Amino acid sequence: MFEKILIANRGEIALRVVRACREMGIKSVAVHSTADADAMHVRMADEAICIGPPSSGASYLNFPAIISACEITGAQAIHPGYGFLSENANFVQIVEDHGLTFIGPSAAHIRMMGDKITAKDTAKALGIPVVPGSEGGVPDLAAAKKAADDMGYPVIIKATAGGGGRGMKVAKDEKELETAFRTARSEAKAAFGNDEVYMEKYLQKPRHIEIQVFGDGKGQGVHLGERDCSLQRRHQKVFEEAPGPCITPEERARIGKICADAIGKMGYSGAGTIEFLYEDGEFYFIEMNTRLQVEHPVTEGIFGVDLVREQIRVASGLPLSFTQDDLKINGHAIEVRINAERLPNFSPCPGKITQYHAPGGLGVRMDSALYDGYSIPPYYDSLIGKLIVHGRDRTEALARLNRALGELIVDGVDTTIPLFHALLQEPDIHSGNYNIHWLEKWLASNLA
Ligand code: ADP
Repeated sequence: MFEKILIANRGEIALRVVRACREMGIKSVAVHSTADADAMHVRMADEAICIGPPSSGASYLNFPAIISACEITGAQAIHPGYGFLSENANFVQIVEDHGLTFIGPSAAHIRMMGDKITAKDTAKALGIPVVPGSEGGVPDLAAAKKAADDMGYPVIIKATAGGGGRGMKVAKDEKELETAFRTARSEAKAAFGNDEVYMEKYLQKPRHIEIQVFGDGKGQGVHLGERDCSLQRRHQKVFEEAPGPCITPEERARIGKICADAIGKMGYSGAGTIEFLYEDGEFYFIEMNTRLQVEHPVTEGIFGVDLVREQIRVASGLPLSFTQDDLKINGHAIEVRINAERLPNFSPCPGKITQYHAPGGLGVRMDSALYDGYSIPPYYDSLIGKLIVHGRDRTEALARLNRALGELIVDGVDTTIPLFHALLQEPDIHSGNYNIHWLEKWLASNLA
């Protein structure tokens, strides 16, 4: 087992990894930009080292500074958290070339899933059901028209190198296709430096269901059920739950086994998430994330396992600490993402926290790097905390969420907390009757 791990991240996820390390008796090293000198992860880790100026490119994405930080502190492994370098195959290669361990899958697996066309082809070959779409990339408008005619409108145009919901455009008919195709390409070029796009049938009322998987890197794969992350704004998740309110035990077992078998066959190592759209009882693969997800705590809640601990164990060469048969669902968990954003436009709202009080009590978990007097810097993501609740069933989890939100105090900046108070008044949230478009429609009629 490693003696010391460097955490190449910040905020709540860096803290999350520090906690797992401490419970495992592993020393942790925080890295930080000059803007994060007073951040909680810096205070909580055993050691901290400054790796550059505020801009992420010069600090949290700075390969040489991070590798040097490992060499200076004697850290043997790097946990990337999510975002930043977590899905950067080139970084993984460099980490390994320096005799260090990357806590995550191989560079080859990251590369395979990072290119969405290769990912879809791989998924198909492994027996995972995929969304109907173009065969590979769509080079020009004529090819786009042909692909759309073949699959039928509406269609969605997506960037091959895409991520974070950027570079996606929907076309309802041939008239819309031309503009959608052009804008998707130019957005893809601007965001990812690669203008290749592909096309899929646009599903009208799907839910976003994702399967948590784990591989031991030696041919064993397990799944930890699904998360329903259908409540999204601009393709960004805001509310996640497990198990999915509409998924039956039979469906879970069927899609879970397909995913676990695929992971085993790939020889995949560590945590991963296979994302699907789900409509009328069918699952359609959209992508695989080769890292820990923001919403991993809801899975931890219902299975009672520590996914970060498991990542560290597998990266150090140990076997998985559970088998598929050991994994039994207990109750229901919900996570809401607390962002420092001003409603109704969700504009980032950095600034000084004048008062912070975290909720507590049975079944309540608050993952946050906030503290009284902390100044949220303007340079990074607006996620400032995740409130996760667990109950014996969905009704109890929702009541607990309502109670915990009432206890949570974040003063000094605007946050998305009022959004969740309002959502908890909605019958559809209580019945679980929502798809990926529900929130956008609700926002348009309630917050505009
Ligand atoms: P990204 O990597 O940018 O997050 P994804 O492929 O995971 O892109 O898609 C993000 C979201 O976009 C999905 O959760 C869903 O809301 C929507 N989406 C993607 N593909 C389709 C599709 N074929 N039909 C309908 N909605 C889609």
